[in-house]
Amino acid sequence: MTTRLYLSPTPPRNDREGASKSTSASIKHDAYLPPADGNRVLVDRFGRIARDLRVSLTDRCNLRCTYCMPAEGLEWLPTEQTLNDAEVLRLIRIAVVKLGIRQIRFTGGEPLLRKNLEDIIAGTAALRTDEGEKVHIALTTNGLGLDKRIAGLKEAGLDRVNISLDTIDAERYVSLTRRDRLSGVLASIDAAVAAGLHPVKINAVVMPGVNEVDIVPLAEYCISKGAQLRFIEQMPLGPREQWKRGDMVTAEEILARLEEKFTLSPAKEPRGAAPAALWNVVDKSNPDITGQIGIIASVTHPFCGDCDRSRLTTDGTIRNCLFSRTETPLRDALRDGASDDELAQLWAGAMWEKKPGHGIDDEGFLQPDRPMSAIGG
Ligand code: SAM
Ligand code: SF4
Repeated sequence: MTTRLYLSPTPPRNDREGASKSTSASIKHDAYLPPADGNRVLVDRFGRIARDLRVSLTDRCNLRCTYCMPAEGLEWLPTEQTLNDAEVLRLIRIAVVKLGIRQIRFTGGEPLLRKNLEDIIAGTAALRTDEGEKVHIALTTNGLGLDKRIAGLKEAGLDRVNISLDTIDAERYVSLTRRDRLSGVLASIDAAVAAGLHPVKINAVVMPGVNEVDIVPLAEYCISKGAQLRFIEQMPLGPREQWKRGDMVTAEEILARLEEKFTLSPAKEPRGAAPAALWNVVDKSNPDITGQIGIIASVTHPFCGDCDRSRLTTDGTIRNCLFSRTETPLRDALRDGASDDELAQLWAGAMWEKKPGHGIDDEGFLQPDRPMSAIGG
């Protein structure tokens, strides 16, 4: 099987040298200065346009996944430093109306811990994109409490949900998340499927020596629920001792495990800017059991060349990459009375500086100081 080719369907532009030679000369920032209506797109010097905004609504969480957070000692951002609902909605409006954002994913920390999440979603759903459409609204959540809120969230305008689940083994769930909450997550997966937020996507991070054994059981479980499982390669964004390039479980290894149980063929849809390479799977022992599984090989087959994301943290900072070591704060300018156009200008400048790739394999790679839970995955 040509797994390697399929995982990397477009020539990656994450080679800094090559990327700057091929594209930076032909893109001029001036070309993207505001036309008469004051609107523009978020373009970087390599020509990528950001259409997808990740909004982190809190850095707090009710789990402590080992690959994401330390067991203790991580201090929450003080409330006065975080954006209130009106501030978040103002920045979202600027992103959609002035900067060409078309999709928004709310994340965290745990976004269900954000009071008034339904109101923030409803305020976002009322906006229209540059194409005159409703913004596509998604949520990434650990699922705790989602079952009780799914109807209200859908009514507010939520289109899709990703629920994180790394094992369906109760004991391993406790050791991975440091909390005994598996039954709550499973109830929420049922509720999300029943609510028709199709396709419900399940995110699973695979850690070496921890949950490789869960790869096939998770796949069987998700197929039985009609949910789409996506395995995510663990990235160097959590506690530093938790990630070693040489030890990580790669996409190829995940595919090899799946092939013990399933026949895999590349799904027809082109991957585009979507990070997951999607596979059709058929159970070898029962061909009536079929589904689709995605693999997000962010480390071994980076999709930086197609990245269309911008990120807003809960304290009002723009990040142009998960791995960026620089940030552009908007909160203070916003509180000091900056106009929408001035905030849009700052945001566009932050995105213009986006690097061609995350550089995980570069010799001098340094993990960002901000933890994953405060960046928003
Ligand atoms: N709390 C929510 C959740 O767990 O879905 C949203 C925030 S969480 C940071 C977003 C996603 O990032 C989750 O699917 C989580 O598994 C993933 N994630 C966290 N740390 C990661 C890491 N070091 N490598 C890869 N994925 C990670
Ligand atoms: Fe919380 Fe999500 Fe991080 Fe787990 S991955 S600790 S649920 S923010």
